[in-house]
Amino acid sequence: MAANIVPQKVEDVDTQALSPMMQQYLEIKRQHPNEILFYRVGDFYEMFFDDALTASRELELTLTGKACGLPDRAPMCGVPFHSYEIYAARLIAKGYKVAICEQMEDPALAKGLVKRDIIRVITPGTVIESSMLADDKNNYICSIYTRKMRSRWKAGICFADISTGEAYATELTAEKMGPAIITELCRYMPSEILINPALLDLKEVTNYVRQHTHALVELREDACYQQRVMEDAMTAQFGADWRNTCGFAQDGLVPYAFGALLGYLHETQKHGIDRIKSVQNYADAQYMRLSPVTRANLELTETMRGREKRGTLLWVLDKTETSMGKRQLRAWIEQPLVDSSVINQRLDAVEALYNANVTRADLKEALSHVYDIERLTTRILYGSATPKEVKALGDTCVYLPQVRQLARQCTTPLLQELSGAVDPLEDLLNLINRALVEDPPANLKDGGAIRAGFNAEVDELRDIMHGGKGFLSQLEAKLKEETGIPKLKIGFNKVFGYYIEVSRSYAASVPDTFIRKQTLTTGERYITPELKELENKILGANERLLVLEHQLFADLLEAISAQLLRIQRTAFAVAQLDVLASFAEAAVQNNYVKPTVDDSDVLSITEGRHPVIEQMLKGSLFVPNDTTLDETENRMLIITGPNMAGKSTYMRQNALIALMAQIGSFVPASSCHVGVVDAIFTRVGASDDLAAGQSTFMVEMTEVAEILQRATKSSLVILDEIGRGTSTFDGMSIARAVVEYICDNIGCKTLFATHYHELTSMDQDVDGIKNYNIAVKKRGEDITFLRRIVQGPADDSYGIEVAKLAGLPEAVIKRAHAVLRQLEATAPGANKAMQLDFETVEAYNNPAVPSEVVDKLNSLDIETLTPIEALNFLYELKQALK
Ligand code: ADP
Ligand code: MG
Repeated sequence: MAANIVPQKVEDVDTQALSPMMQQYLEIKRQHPNEILFYRVGDFYEMFFDDALTASRELELTLTGKACGLPDRAPMCGVPFHSYEIYAARLIAKGYKVAICEQMEDPALAKGLVKRDIIRVITPGTVIESSMLADDKNNYICSIYTRKMRSRWKAGICFADISTGEAYATELTAEKMGPAIITELCRYMPSEILINPALLDLKEVTNYVRQHTHALVELREDACYQQRVMEDAMTAQFGADWRNTCGFAQDGLVPYAFGALLGYLHETQKHGIDRIKSVQNYADAQYMRLSPVTRANLELTETMRGREKRGTLLWVLDKTETSMGKRQLRAWIEQPLVDSSVINQRLDAVEALYNANVTRADLKEALSHVYDIERLTTRILYGSATPKEVKALGDTCVYLPQVRQLARQCTTPLLQELSGAVDPLEDLLNLINRALVEDPPANLKDGGAIRAGFNAEVDELRDIMHGGKGFLSQLEAKLKEETGIPKLKIGFNKVFGYYIEVSRSYAASVPDTFIRKQTLTTGERYITPELKELENKILGANERLLVLEHQLFADLLEAISAQLLRIQRTAFAVAQLDVLASFAEAAVQNNYVKPTVDDSDVLSITEGRHPVIEQMLKGSLFVPNDTTLDETENRMLIITGPNMAGKSTYMRQNALIALMAQIGSFVPASSCHVGVVDAIFTRVGASDDLAAGQSTFMVEMTEVAEILQRATKSSLVILDEIGRGTSTFDGMSIARAVVEYICDNIGCKTLFATHYHELTSMDQDVDGIKNYNIAVKKRGEDITFLRRIVQGPADDSYGIEVAKLAGLPEAVIKRAHAVLRQLEATAPGANKAMQLDFETVEAYNNPAVPSEVVDKLNSLDIETLTPIEALNFLYELKQALK
């Protein structure tokens, strides 16, 4: 073999010395320096030089070498072309982009070097292959254009899913542009983000993307955002009248963001981006605001630990039948509404389906036959759909009239509207059924997809082929008779085509008209002009048939593409029906009720439950609890109670119930009244962000700061044990100040769990504060958690009062409180390290306390102490002081 494989960079290679193919490779590679280049060579995609090193490492492929004209072989690895999707998908998941370079002509026919060109660049946001996409998730690409004008930020932001054709856009103007952009990113969770250079100044956005998402960031040059470029791109996509048809705000920045997105798609997709036909403009104020932290804390679509679907709200509510419905459900959960009339439309529809058990079951059954026509349409448009997939579209159409009919039976406005939007697509069904065989092949390689009777020429060619086989056996029989050779056979091979084979023993009987082609050990092979004529007819028919089937299938795809908008509208309606039916099904199965939703200031829940924990508990029962919150008398509930009592669960359940109501779902309660909230904020302790290089306390305070800046009177705020990350007095002071600020300056509905008992006196000083605690029963050494929320502060006296009465010095009482707090912290199941209480440590080092007492305290092993032992211990201390 040739010399070694030496790792080398493309730019170091001496181009002149290279073989012609490698020169071609390098020329293409230089136009795509940032992508891994899949270079088609026969049945493989090959990668060379540093691409080969990267790909072999990331994909665990064997690294070999290819002679390239240089003394050293070029590093090389390859993947079979028919399974390239798996490899490309893995590279994309790891944050690479892949450029696909195809042979543009048949190598067998090419004179000299085969022409090659890039047909597509696959990036995380531009994937359309079903094998690279999750069925139940949209895959968004985002484009953000920001501009700072007179020290004020403005931004246009848009999101598109090219696998489904959805596009959304909004204008942002905000004092704090960073958090505003992050909020939008959280709604859609794009896998790729295009930004203009100015955005780099918003460090919080770039930090957020880097630390909390897997999105690939593409910095686009300023040139991509010029007026001219934008106008041209928009006109090309939406026509000259785009400003009106798209409904963008005058002087807004969205067109620049969108134009840059279109430019990028044209650059990478070659195929065109016809799928995006319209853009939906949304106002930031149309949806409930949910910060990334809140989404994570409430575990809407993935759990905090493990980031799984199981254990999330999505998991509980997902009773959908179609992939389109799954994506829609996720989108609804990510974007709760704030317009009570729209919410009530959904709720009414769910109610109708909830009451109509039979209709719902029939609807779900019909939906279960509906294929992912939304994404299939994209592949049809791009010409990459297979005959099998197109048949699946046809099979779906069979059920559409039923879906339409069943939805119409429920007489709520939304269901009527959706029913109307379901187009039965009968013409497509007929066309597909006429064109394709019952069970079409997965690809068109060997033909056999077009149904008999669809096209006269196809039928004729097939006749010739089948007939041809008949002619062959007729000819064989005739020749046997004429020559008197019984063992004469007509056979076929790729080199000679059809031939006549005669065994050696009959060689003498072969007539002169036979032309010898090949000699075998056993006999001879011949051809005749008659046989060749027959061969031309048969093989010609086969070839022609393949070409014709390809053509007819391409025509079929085009005919379907022409109906794109109808399919898209239908897919969208089907998706929504699926989600509404899913809500109804979940409500029936989980015993939910329809909430009253209006624009009042109330959050009033009777016998509310945590939707996820009640499902996780399985055997044991979840204890329901009531809630009364408003913007006046019951603005803030301060909730106390020992660890593990259920404080966090209670607070989250209220947030989740409000959120469920605002996506249009029934809720886990016996009755519920939700005045629409504009945002939910949560600050939950113990979320460590040490990996990001910030201390827990710093993170906590940043989050609290954001809440105080962004919450309004109509928001719902959940604060779970804030102040934990610092010393007691600091923490308590901050907690108290935060409570006062919220009550006095914001006035929003707030649930506040705290271990600072001292805060429970605040109801005396501040209007709207109510104390609640989660009841605990103590008997002897045992604690029973009752899980019931009751009015008033927690009763945390263990009998230390008694010790105090007995005259123990103040310092000891203080220390005893600390010990007690530690006991609570180590109650069954809790596993939180008790923080060192700095102030009290100082107190007991005070010389006023006898050293014997100090020693006893020092040697105390709190971990193993029971409440009774604690009392005994206090008794001992008292003895020691005497
Ligand atoms: P805290 O925040 O007070 O420390 P949590 O809310 O974390 O307590 O609750 C601890 C555990 O108690 C939960 O994981 C859950 O299993 C259980 N729990 C909480 N509330 C209830 C309830 N209402 N009914 C049944 N189990 C509950
Ligand atoms: Mg808690």
